Amino acid sequence: SGARVRRARNTKLPQYLERGIDVKFSDVAGLGKIREELEEIVKFFTHGEMYRRRGVKIPGGILLCGPPGVGKTLLAKAVAGEAGVNFFSISASQFVEIYVGVGASRVRALYQEARENAPSVVFIDELDAVGRERGLIKGSGGQERDATLNQLLVCLDGFEGKGEVITIASTNRPDILDPALVRPGRFDRKIYIPKPGLIGRIEILKVHARKKPMAPDVDYMAVASMTDGMVGAELANIVEVAAINMMRDARTEITTDDLIQAAQIEERGMLDRKERSPEMWKQVAINEAAMAVVAVNFPDLRNIEFLTIAPRAGRDLGYVRMKMDHVKFKEGMLSRQSLLDHITVQIAPRAADELWYGEHQFSTIWAETADNARSAARTFVLGGLSDKHYGLSDFWVADRINDIDSEALHILHMCYDRAKEILHQNRNLMDAVVDILVEKKSLTKEGFFKLVELHGSLQPMPPSV
Ligand code: ADP
Repeated sequence: SGARVRRARNTKLPQYLERGIDVKFSDVAGLGKIREELEEIVKFFTHGEMYRRRGVKIPGGILLCGPPGVGKTLLAKAVAGEAGVNFFSISASQFVEIYVGVGASRVRALYQEARENAPSVVFIDELDAVGRERGLIKGSGGQERDATLNQLLVCLDGFEGKGEVITIASTNRPDILDPALVRPGRFDRKIYIPKPGLIGRIEILKVHARKKPMAPDVDYMAVASMTDGMVGAELANIVEVAAINMMRDARTEITTDDLIQAAQIEERGMLDRKERSPEMWKQVAINEAAMAVVAVNFPDLRNIEFLTIAPRAGRDLGYVRMKMDHVKFKEGMLSRQSLLDHITVQIAPRAADELWYGEHQFSTIWAETADNARSAARTFVLGGLSDKHYGLSDFWVADRINDIDSEALHILHMCYDRAKEILHQNRNLMDAVVDILVEKKSLTKEGFFKLVELHGSLQPMPPSV
């Protein structure tokens, strides 16, 4: 298989051709319905005549929209691979040159090569670099870019409806593209590629595991559960790093543990392999367990995905990954109650320190989360959510600041007591989580919820403020 390269009319070798593209749709995972849309694009190549005879318009260009690393480039290659046509690519940031005319002439050359070697896919990465709405960029750089953009428009129009050369472009910012680009006959088809969901992440991990010596009992679900928010590029990396881990230990199979380690490195950077005293491990375990055990009592925060006490060099001592309801959080749709719950979770390590060590407290590992709790408590008061209504305007009046602070302190105390109560009620669960963390250094979502089921005594306890 691979791309057919027809001899170019001129003897110069094509510059923008990528040879040996052997990507298929089966290499791109977690697509769901998007795959059908792309299969149709393949048909424009393979059944072009049929479309033309029936008067169906073939789109001039397809815009793949989505965040970096979700597989837009991979998909464009898969379209070429499935259709068995040539693949020409350029990154639009290469168009943006200081010398006048260079960008435009590159676009011309690119399309000339694509036409001479048709049928072909032209892939333009980061289209927004050159396709930003005219007038948004000032100065001579803007002029040069306009010339490039105009040339691109000319080339797109030159192929409208012919189906011999189809342009696929990628962008993370379809909203800022010049309107001229998205007019009918140009990039008139937009396909959104979102970040993968849980099932998507499992599928992507599996695609990358295909060519690796995986242990037969690898738990992909465990890895997918702790990587919410990650994209295909990151998941692919996790499998690579896991393989390196296996090699370093001179083993022959990649295990779930290798993948979990690698996911941690992907998210938090290199882990610190420093030794700690047993007492120190335990203290960090209590700190992390307290947050998870309290959080699991609250509806908006109970999505615990992963716990670890493995330290990250120079950064955090341990880590609890909670799946945030990102939309709610971004839109400020967290309820008053959720904000109180959040404060309670952040102050929980401090409460645990008192419960477990009493007067023999000897560390301040809870300091960072206590700071979070303090500032969230202030937000709570300044937002007018406490019974005593203060607002931002009070903030500028010197004698009000004391009132605001004392009200925030009141909220903080209340949440502290609530955290203590929950921890007290869940002593058995705390002990179980701490023991496993100390022994294994980390706990997966499944592992954690099994312990909750066995030892937890959850109850909703709405506080009275
Ligand atoms: P984008 O163009 O959206 O920035 P890429 O296509 O360059 O992302 O993705 C980089 C790499 O990440 C791919 O080569 C592939 O290894 C991996 N990857 C990304 N998305 C997927 C996916 N949906 N399925 C499988 N692998 C993926």
